[in-house]
Amino acid sequence: MINLEVIGTALDGRTFMVSNAFASALASMCLLIAWSQMKHASELLWWAFANMFGSITLIGLTLGLMVPSDTLILISDGGRALLPAMFWIGARRFNNLPISWFAVSAGLGFWALMMVVPVEWPVPLKGLFAVAICWAVFMSLAVYELWSSTNEDLALRKPLVVVFGVHAAVYVGVAVECLDYDGQSLVDVSIFSWLGILHIEDMFFAMCGAVVSILLRKEQSEQEQTDASKIDVLTGAVNRNHLFTEAERLFNSCQGRNVPFSMIMFDLDHFKTVNDTQGHLMGDRVLRSFSDTVKAGIRSNDLFGRYGGEEFNVFLPDTPLEAAYIVAERIRMNFAENHVSFEGIPLQATVSAGVVSAKPGMDLTDLIALADRTMYRAKNNGRNRVECDPKFNFDNKDGRSRGALGSVVPFARSS
Ligand code: GH3
Ligand code: MG
Ligand code: MG
Repeated sequence: MINLEVIGTALDGRTFMVSNAFASALASMCLLIAWSQMKHASELLWWAFANMFGSITLIGLTLGLMVPSDTLILISDGGRALLPAMFWIGARRFNNLPISWFAVSAGLGFWALMMVVPVEWPVPLKGLFAVAICWAVFMSLAVYELWSSTNEDLALRKPLVVVFGVHAAVYVGVAVECLDYDGQSLVDVSIFSWLGILHIEDMFFAMCGAVVSILLRKEQSEQEQTDASKIDVLTGAVNRNHLFTEAERLFNSCQGRNVPFSMIMFDLDHFKTVNDTQGHLMGDRVLRSFSDTVKAGIRSNDLFGRYGGEEFNVFLPDTPLEAAYIVAERIRMNFAENHVSFEGIPLQATVSAGVVSAKPGMDLTDLIALADRTMYRAKNNGRNRVECDPKFNFDNKDGRSRGALGSVVPFARSS
């Protein structure tokens, strides 16, 4: 029979503390190496410093308990009260939030306050209680930061939340245990006590925390690269490759749900002239400005991409032809009105558009070809206009799509 009581009191705190100091030093080195390869990841540097500092103060604390020396314990505990805020700041940096120096000093302040509070507790117990409260509070704040991170797609965010959360919970246990103190040793502790659990968990925290946080940053970098590979650098619109992949997905989804799917094809008017007269750089800026105009005029679930040089597509899921026409007309009108002159130069930049909706039996290629033909109808009919397929009779004077938006509804379909 295993004697649980013997096992329960067999933990030598000193051995664990020294082992944990080495684990923290190792974690710190791993984080530093990772940071040297990803210098923009400042959270790794913060966590590396926190682990290194943790390692040094843990060695100091062990020596302080062994000598014993209250001074060494005091200095080490003071340092350990600073640590958890460093983990929290690392989590804030991960979310691109500023460093809070006040928070760093708050931990130290609380520890100093504990030291002067007139309680009949030995110095190591006061220090342990202050440090436990600091860890519980700041690790909970770090958990909140990671949990509320804007980047919800990162799979490793939750494992890191668990690693930090468990550490916070164990320290809550330690703090509560301090309140029940009745003279037992703080060095040789039971495995069934919170301090005993902390000795074991601390190593997991250091190693798992470092590994998961490095992998999390790698995951984020890869995601950023993948996202960047889908975007056209000049205009910020989705690039041609990704545009077709996503358009196919949206098209199939709408067909599957039997809901309308529309698209708008835009082509800037006489753009060659803009380049020839104002130069390509100005042309580039006009393209970017057009892209901004489109982005401001569509919904978040519409797909906007650069089809070719100065040709752009918008795919509108769950949208009938009439509604897509209104979107196209609004964009055409806004662009024309805001580009009579551009950067102080009279440009008269305009755009033509073709608007179509998927019909039974059509695939995406058929739809794009139809949008292309419809857009060319707008070119042939004088440019700076929107054409639809099938045609509409618009309720304005000359039957063209120019004019105030209000004049284009209601629609009457022509035969
Ligand atoms: P239209 O009204 O018939 O469309 O006339 P257009 O001059 O716009 O037609 P065309 O297709 O002949 O010319 C498109 C021009 O767009 C030619 C090309 O130099 C320019 N272009 C394509 N991509 C870019 C780009 O990335 N930057 C700049 N500045 N110009 C581009
Ligand atoms: Mg063109
Ligand atoms: Mg053109």
